[in-house]
Amino acid sequence: MNLRDLSIEHLGQVGLLAQRRRGNHIDGREEAPVSGSYLPVVDPATEMTVAEAPDSDAADVNAAVASARRTFESAAWKSLRPADRERMLYTLSTLIESHADELSALETLQSGKLRGIARMVDVGAGAEFVRYMAGWATKLEGQTLDNSIGIPGPQWVTYTRREPVGVVGAIVPWNFPLAIALWKVAPALAAGCTVVLKPSEETPLTALRLAELAIEAGFPPGALNVVCGRGATAGAALAAHPDIRKISFTGSTGVGRLIGHAAVDNMARFTLELGGKSPLIVLDDADPAAAAQGAANGIFFHQGQVCTAGSRVYVQRGIFDKVVSQLAQVAEGLHIGSGFDPQAQFGPLVSRRHMDRVMAHIDGAVAEGATLVTGGGRAFDGGCFVKPTVFVDAKPSMRIVREEVFGPVATIVPFDDVEDAIRMANDSAYGLAASVWSNSLSAVHRIVPRLQAGVVWVNAHNVLDNALPLGGVKQSGYGRDLGRAAVESFTELKSVCMAV
Ligand code: NAD
Repeated sequence: MNLRDLSIEHLGQVGLLAQRRRGNHIDGREEAPVSGSYLPVVDPATEMTVAEAPDSDAADVNAAVASARRTFESAAWKSLRPADRERMLYTLSTLIESHADELSALETLQSGKLRGIARMVDVGAGAEFVRYMAGWATKLEGQTLDNSIGIPGPQWVTYTRREPVGVVGAIVPWNFPLAIALWKVAPALAAGCTVVLKPSEETPLTALRLAELAIEAGFPPGALNVVCGRGATAGAALAAHPDIRKISFTGSTGVGRLIGHAAVDNMARFTLELGGKSPLIVLDDADPAAAAQGAANGIFFHQGQVCTAGSRVYVQRGIFDKVVSQLAQVAEGLHIGSGFDPQAQFGPLVSRRHMDRVMAHIDGAVAEGATLVTGGGRAFDGGCFVKPTVFVDAKPSMRIVREEVFGPVATIVPFDDVEDAIRMANDSAYGLAASVWSNSLSAVHRIVPRLQAGVVWVNAHNVLDNALPLGGVKQSGYGRDLGRAAVESFTELKSVCMAV
């Protein structure tokens, strides 16, 4: 079956042949955008338009924020017990799982990703994360503090409470549309906030379905609203809205900076999960085959469209040649195809626009003098497929070493002295993640504290856990997703001081 037939077969299964045009989800209802304008949702494997979603503007955002605020302030929402929110989130997680076929097909249609990855990450890990956050709804706590207040007369009781911050604006990218939406929505709801979610204009379909499932799980209309549209219009209106008390954003560093400014103007809280240029440091006591496979997983998983992708590989001279040749061998052995092809191990990039951007980085690296080991071009004439690509001879000043490509492109550079590897790894504007590959416990323990990164893996790369906070330092962001840190970031700490 060709790529187009595979997509058409799945369009029927998820109902998009019958209902191609989707509305926003506001106050529990599907609403057409006030402007009447829509944007196409394009399958990057075939470049076929599979649906249309609203090109919303400030009028739609205002309606969604008003709904979220009304719900947040309602007696019904305030009277929900933490155990009620826990139960609704738990139900939502089971609904996500029972709709795994539909949700994963929607992800593959709108983003091109391998169906298996959509099932495993967006649906499977996403549902498990919602369950993890359901548990937190009943475990948020303040502290009772001993005080030293010396005012004579009464005795003093002092304690803190964690209270929901209010209406949350969540703005998310296209690489893991459902999973990253859940990273924002689940902790916000667990903490007792209500939410307006703006998915990427490239991938709105699973966010809209999520809002419907939240209603089915028992959340009242207005607890989760979804407004689709472009960043510069819908996204900017949401970030600047004075009733938004917290913005949680995942996306590029440039946009994160704009959102941070908008949040500060309103003194809203914010979390920014931004770009990365994550290094791997491979010491020569590591197993070259395991390191090469790890480096391949680090950069080729989801075609490198991963914020923590291991795009800079530094390998100690003793095993450099072996790691380069084995990494190239893995790259050349990957089966490239449609996300719906069960044989495929490597799919398309998200869009033609993004493919052109990745190809410009590759062409720029060649022009600057880097040497291609493998890849370097499009895989097919049609669709948005770029071959897994590896460069050597990349100098620290080259754009391919300094800028985030967000595609399947790695540079691999030798080093002799570990000090040089640490210096090169830290020589980046970004600081999201890093990994160290070695069997020497003492070498690893000496390197880990010196890496400027929010996450460090040892003998692994791109491994996340719901309990482990995820976020970056330097230009990679501010604050943390996942774990206790995430749910607490949707709360305000109130201090109570009582004369008794
Ligand atoms: P992007 O910054 O272009 O867009 C992200 C979201 O922001 C989209 O919903 C977009 O519509 C919206 N947006 C764009 N301009 C806006 C504006 N002016 N105001 C408000 N919202 C706006 O990023 P992208 O291309 O969708 O995603 C790729 C980027 O995301 C990469 O840089 C990647 O590293 C980063 N990312 C980071 C993480 C992480 O956890 N740190 C995870 C995934 C992706």
